[in-house]
Amino acid sequence: MTRPAAAAATLVAVLAALGPALRSVGRPDRASARTGASGSVDGTVVRRGAIQAPSSPLNILSARFGQLDQDLVLSLRTSGRWRTSQLAAAGGRSLCLRILTHPAPGPGLELCVVPAGGGAQAATARLDARGRLGRLRPLPTATVRRPDARSLTLRVAAGDLGLAPGLLRWQLSTNWSRAGCGARSAGTCADLLPAAGVAFARLLAVRPVGCDSGRGGQFTNGSRRSRMVGLSFDDGPSTYTPRYLDVLEREGVRATFFQIGEQVAGTGALESRILRDGDEIGDHTFNHPDVSGGGAFAQDQLARTRAVIQRTSGYQPCLFRPPYGATSPALVSVARGLGLATIIWDVDPRDWSRPGTDAIYSRVTGMAQRGSVILMHDGGGPRDQTLAALPRIIDTLKARGYQLVPVSVLLGFPTRYGRR
Ligand code: ZN
Repeated sequence: MTRPAAAAATLVAVLAALGPALRSVGRPDRASARTGASGSVDGTVVRRGAIQAPSSPLNILSARFGQLDQDLVLSLRTSGRWRTSQLAAAGGRSLCLRILTHPAPGPGLELCVVPAGGGAQAATARLDARGRLGRLRPLPTATVRRPDARSLTLRVAAGDLGLAPGLLRWQLSTNWSRAGCGARSAGTCADLLPAAGVAFARLLAVRPVGCDSGRGGQFTNGSRRSRMVGLSFDDGPSTYTPRYLDVLEREGVRATFFQIGEQVAGTGALESRILRDGDEIGDHTFNHPDVSGGGAFAQDQLARTRAVIQRTSGYQPCLFRPPYGATSPALVSVARGLGLATIIWDVDPRDWSRPGTDAIYSRVTGMAQRGSVILMHDGGGPRDQTLAALPRIIDTLKARGYQLVPVSVLLGFPTRYGRR
């Protein structure tokens, strides 16, 4: 059903055209490219011949653009040293990546590096079908790193760029306006890579196929220095779950759903949506008994649930939540043997007892702090109160500067991706 990612939990498939553009356009799959050991394609484009802009430090000597999990990553090396603060589109100094879908001509975009608060950030502008560039808007979700004064790495979620899976064409352009390198001497301060034509990158549809809890163990919360808070919902999937997903999607936050195995069969579409939204699925036993005694009984409860989740969704959980929070060293050991970390919580509004929407809201927001794991429920009974409290809880925690994330993200457990 799904093919797990190859080496290093990544799925990189990039085609770079080193040769003439026409050949590449006609046969992108056979474009000149080196195949890496893992079966991925090395999408590095290296400058051939003399640099284009002798008076600019921004000649791109080599660049690599390709997919890493659900992100696109650009890394490049320039001929000279430069500071990000020296870039300013208005002043004629810029470093931008143009991305077009293939086969075009369709709309595309430009992804530029701009100075921001002493560092750098990415900004994007839409490119319409006639090649007109829209306004440059900051893209705070992208990360820009400068390993040294001649190098740059930019990572951005393909979804944040609005890019659908398929073949992409790309070209880097830089400009470094200065005295003696203005309009009159065009060509001495502007650089393109590839110098002629375009390079190709293939964006594959990937999806999470699991996560990795490392050595496992038991966790009540994440780091108290983190600005993140983990959001978790137990006892689903239920008829309420889609409405929870609507709220999370609208608010742009992600969460963990600890599911009861006997309720999972037949919920494939719902499970797919949970994963597509960037939410996470955890193991909450097969039929919700106290499994703190550990041993074969706990092993069976956890393993059956893990199996039905994997069969239904293609995702292998790495988190387990014991019903009633009833835990023991023996249970943690059983969970570890199945690749599952045991997740307790430090914020419990007791929403299952239906204390009222206001009580759920004030209990959660009253107790939540840096690194908290918040426990609420999307199943096990009427959940209208929790559902009603959820948007207010999210808004308040966001206003305090918290990022709301799935528990594996809070704990730093990596997600594994595979082909859709
Ligand atoms: Zn439960």
